[in-house]
Amino acid sequence: MMFQFRAGWGACLAALCLSPMAARAATDTLLIDSIDVEGGAATLYITPEGQSLLIDTGWPANVGAKDPDSVQRIIAAARKHGLSKLDYLLITHYHVDHIGSAVELLGQFPVGTVLDHGPNREMPAPNAPPGFAAFQPANLYPKYLEALRGHAHRELKAGDTLDIGSLHLTVVTSDGATIPKPMSGAGSAIAECGSMKPMAEDGGEENSRSVGVVMTFGRARVAALGDLTWNIEKALVCPRDKVGPVDLLMVSHHGAHFSNSPALLHALSPRVAIVNNGAKKGGEAPSYDAVAHSPRVARVWQLHFAEAAGAEHNTTETYIANPTAADDKQASLEAIVTKEGAITVTNGRTGFKESYPPAPRR
Ligand SMILES: [Zn+2]
Repeated sequence: MMFQFRAGWGACLAALCLSPMAARAATDTLLIDSIDVEGGAATLYITPEGQSLLIDTGWPANVGAKDPDSVQRIIAAARKHGLSKLDYLLITHYHVDHIGSAVELLGQFPVGTVLDHGPNREMPAPNAPPGFAAFQPANLYPKYLEALRGHAHRELKAGDTLDIGSLHLTVVTSDGATIPKPMSGAGSAIAECGSMKPMAEDGGEENSRSVGVVMTFGRARVAALGDLTWNIEKALVCPRDKVGPVDLLMVSHHGAHFSNSPALLHALSPRVAIVNNGAKKGGEAPSYDAVAHSPRVARVWQLHFAEAAGAEHNTTETYIANPTAADDKQASLEAIVTKEGAITVTNGRTGFKESYPPAPRR
């Protein structure tokens, strides 16, 4: 037996208690840190067992997030939570605001298994200027594959499952496909499907290929669908929903208007929503309205005040991590989720926190 609890071990036990890993290990909660990467995506999940999952890596150096860059913000967040390794890295798709710092991260911090949707599907835009072309998926994906050498790598298909500690992931979308069978508790007819028209705009083929996951933690359900677009949302929840209600939604596509259909928001009906928008990226008025009018939503949190949407289409300042671009605090939003489904969200700028009780049992 490695440890015996007896007199004389007090200092050792105290030291264990003071270590961040021990602090996480002593909890029975899921920690979710929405790292501010200025309109990119980088969200860290840590289970009670200290197992970790990072979904997306923000931007490359000197793009989007600067001083510090995305990769430095991600590593700082991991270390703040006591991690010396990321057990899993999931790249939802190959746009630069998601895969941006993956190569740097793989070179600078220990990473276990890397997950994605398989090959890049987005061809270069014709006549793109050289500076723009460098950040297109067709250029980023080969460099990412090169950096993956030596790491375990798994391409996820819709319907796949994965356990990370006590966090159970179900892949509900991947590479443009949706989960073949409805999840337990799903199957409701969604009224908003009837008036849902196809949308031509998708912001690039890779968005629609996003890996979307529903994470079950005890009774709690958390959805994170990357930059999944309107038409795939329709395939996922129309005419009958294949996902079911969730407690926490990491709002898709930074709150862009060609995602976040009313049909999706009625199917998922989150109680708490977190938007990883930037001051000038995402957080668009139609998405804000769809989320804010979702039938069970108690609170919408945002990483930034969305300047173009106006005050009436933003949540109030208390619930915004970074309310002014001129004085950007680079603050994150941290959620703690219990296995009963209670959620507490903390504003990293102010320390203000608000708790939401578990949903009534169905
Ligand atoms: Zn994005």
